[in-house]
Amino acid sequence: MKVTAAFIGLGIMGYPMAGHLANAGVEVQVWNRTAAKANTWAAEYQGKACESIAATVDNADFVFTCVGADTDLTEVYEGSDGIIANAKPGAVLVDHTTASAGIAEKLAQLARARNLEFIDAPVSGGQQGAERGQLTIMCGSEPDAFSQAKPLMEHYSKALNLMGPVGSGQKTKMVNQIAIAGLVQGLSEALHFAEQAELDVRKVVDVISKGAAQSWQMENRSGTMIDGEFEHGFAVDWMRKDLAICLEEARKNGARIPVAALVDQFYGDVQQMGGNRWDTSSLIQRLRKKG
Ligand code: NAP
Repeated sequence: MKVTAAFIGLGIMGYPMAGHLANAGVEVQVWNRTAAKANTWAAEYQGKACESIAATVDNADFVFTCVGADTDLTEVYEGSDGIIANAKPGAVLVDHTTASAGIAEKLAQLARARNLEFIDAPVSGGQQGAERGQLTIMCGSEPDAFSQAKPLMEHYSKALNLMGPVGSGQKTKMVNQIAIAGLVQGLSEALHFAEQAELDVRKVVDVISKGAAQSWQMENRSGTMIDGEFEHGFAVDWMRKDLAICLEEARKNGARIPVAALVDQFYGDVQQMGGNRWDTSSLIQRLRKKG
């Protein structure tokens, strides 16, 4: 029997993810707040663009979402027009948004009351990972719900893991963002130091990337950092949203994350410089700022 999937939120990430499902033969129907994107998607993938969330989800076996933040999740999941009120009983809801663990737990509870399963499934790998179907997906759910949704998520992931109960996917993504925050600041300081020392910065990177300083950020971002190019990648606004979630969770669980808190402030400086949509590697620009 053919599986029907609804996909809500066709942004930079959602658009290609929904595309991979359609390319794999899944019957995909989509909804996007800005309808034009849904129509473009439907034309590209021979899928169906629906006019409301209710019409998108009411016959779907799986409902995928990839929107912005907690408040957006409340808008699309809750209320009489939302996913939970209109999904088919027994359906599995999979949320790829990076959001708080608290909202995941709340939505899972609301879903359960309607005999629906909920999986928090934030991703890492960025636009390129989504387009290539090579995302890392960190899930929190009941094991049975994960087993059901796994074959579908495999169409756009290279690593897919169940981390624990609902909320565990979001908490794992927080660990990822905390690790990245300190790393990007460290790399920014290192490259800035090399510039100030009037070294051949590219040569420095070439040498040290073969040793213990090597990282994904160094490999994939040092070149554009040296060139001062930031119109790509993962936006500073998104990172600040994610770090706010991390700081809130740390307040609850008692973790001490002073560097992440500081780097969050540094990203505030980058926003002040007009860098809201710049890639997170733009932290180096506030060090270069003169005066
Ligand atoms: P994006 O391009 O801005 O797309 C956001 C999508 O959500 C759009 O389709 C938008 O609709 C929809 N949306 C937002 N608020 C909504 C609301 N209140 N009601 C209905 N639809 C709403 O963002 P993205 O880059 O795809 O990111 C999506 C999520 O993935 C975020 O949580 C982000 O943190 C996470 N993420 C992103 C990356 C990345 O590299 N971009 C990497 C990992 C994780 P409209 O088209 O109408 O605006």
